[in-house]
Amino acid sequence: MAEGQTYATGGCQCGRIRFRVTEPLGRANLCHCRMCQRATGNAFAPLIEVATGRVTWTGRPATWASSNIAERGFCATCGTPLFYRQTGRTTIELMAGSLDHPEDYDPAANHGTESRLPWLARLAALPDRETTLAPGTTLVSHQPETR
Ligand SMILES: [Zn+2]
Ligand SMILES: [Zn+2]
Repeated sequence: MAEGQTYATGGCQCGRIRFRVTEPLGRANLCHCRMCQRATGNAFAPLIEVATGRVTWTGRPATWASSNIAERGFCATCGTPLFYRQTGRTTIELMAGSLDHPEDYDPAANHGTESRLPWLARLAALPDRETTLAPGTTLVSHQPETR
């Protein structure tokens, strides 16, 4: 399971949980369903499907059964959502934001669109601003640099 080429790496924001994927990233979709919104605290979950046996973990994600058919993995220390796993499937869906290179994520479909938030259609038209700090402020990140 641990052998083979590494196609992706990632982990939580505190660095206690890390993962390595030893197969090419699979089907990618944005899930807009209400349960994914709650589980991520976000507008949607950016998911990537890979075979469960092709993900090698360092540290042990906590899990919580969000329904009778699925569980969600996260870091018990820092709370980062890490995956969605449907019971009985041989695959796991990783959260794209936990990848060291989230730019590799290329979603191909929207799922759970019955709950899609209407303002998402306006994202590209909103004014842009890059991250800035107030003058004299120094940012000290507690997230380990992994790339
Ligand atoms: Zn963590
Ligand atoms: Zn969902």
